Amino acid sequence: MGVSLPRKDLFKLPRGVIYLDGNSLGVLPKGAAARAARVIEAEWGQQLIRAWNDAGWMDLPRVVGDRIAALIGAPEGSVATGDTLSIKVYQALAAALKMRPDRRVILSDSGNFPTDLYMAQGLIGTIDKGYELRTPAPEDAADAISEDVAVVMLTHVDYRSGRMHDMKAITEKAHAAGAVMIWDLAHSAGAVPVDMAGSNAEFAVGCTYKYLNGGPGAPAFIYARPDIIEDVAPALAGWLGHAAPFAMEPGYRPAMATERLRVGTPPILQLAVLQEALTVWDGVDMDEVRAASIALSERFVLEVSSRCPDLTLASPADPLRRGSQVSFAFKEGYAAMQALIARGVIGDFRAPDIMRFGFTPLYLDEADVIHAAEILQEVIRTEAYLDPAYQARSRVT
Ligand SMILES: *Cc1c(COP(=O)(O)O)cnc(C)c1O
Repeated sequence: MGVSLPRKDLFKLPRGVIYLDGNSLGVLPKGAAARAARVIEAEWGQQLIRAWNDAGWMDLPRVVGDRIAALIGAPEGSVATGDTLSIKVYQALAAALKMRPDRRVILSDSGNFPTDLYMAQGLIGTIDKGYELRTPAPEDAADAISEDVAVVMLTHVDYRSGRMHDMKAITEKAHAAGAVMIWDLAHSAGAVPVDMAGSNAEFAVGCTYKYLNGGPGAPAFIYARPDIIEDVAPALAGWLGHAAPFAMEPGYRPAMATERLRVGTPPILQLAVLQEALTVWDGVDMDEVRAASIALSERFVLEVSSRCPDLTLASPADPLRRGSQVSFAFKEGYAAMQALIARGVIGDFRAPDIMRFGFTPLYLDEADVIHAAEILQEVIRTEAYLDPAYQARSRVT
């Protein structure tokens, strides 16, 4: 048995807010601010450059990687941290293409998060050897795996609908066709149980500012299967992925194992905050998180469906086929979400008409989701969204 959920006492939740957006930016863990202050004042301020050795800064990317590994079913030493998820997508994709030099197709799906597709398009342009990106509809992705596919790159949980791909089955299918498998875990890490080792996929990437509460701009992570890492030729051959960074050699030699997926100087402040944020998972069993997440999301779907008949469920009705979020389509979704936020219930909006709600059992309980549904009902019933104040679009939706 793990610790009991939720663990609201470990977080700084603003008063009067029901936060259903932990799938986009997780809330502030209580220890994070003090840790940041310590790194700034005691380590940077007092130890200065000595802190790279004396305060463990140089080891931090690996130490934090190991903590993430434990949450995604990956062995120690198999996860590197740093950069942003977009960069990690590029690294994984470039490495995977090199593993299948005779093939020219990257297979993803049309529902994938745009940056994953953009990074693939950019890489294809840079290599300039006639590579092709295929993006069938998500439900057709598995059937589109053919013998000419070099890499299958999918996001496990769809950012819009919450629909979850079958990681094990699709990985098996990719391997049977001779393709390399990359999973994007942006909406999976800390959201659903993930068994990277059991999936046998070659690569996984993810970010840490969503369900892992690492804060805005927190470093991303990349997993490579231990038996292939020594053959990975890094496309982003940065000095900290070199076998001996401080030998200052003119030629690149990759570091042993996962260290070669590091690029440049690690973001120490963000890594330290992330390390602190990850302590909220100590003693937490991902199967219990999953059970609590399903209970919360099922309750929310039930409440919203009965209270707001104008909203259409845009996520799979079967909780086992979705991650830890639920979306509803509503033609005035943007303005309705603004009205909801003004009333203290924070979710978000994804074009064209999706109202998105994330469930984070570490800091949400049943009373929260019922209350959120009541407030949503009031917004819809009174047509509060027609107020022009809610119609103006902000840069970040
Ligand atoms: C959130 C998210 C990203 C964001 O990438 P960044 O480089 O961190 O901005 C990328 N891919 C997916 C699937 C996401 O959900």
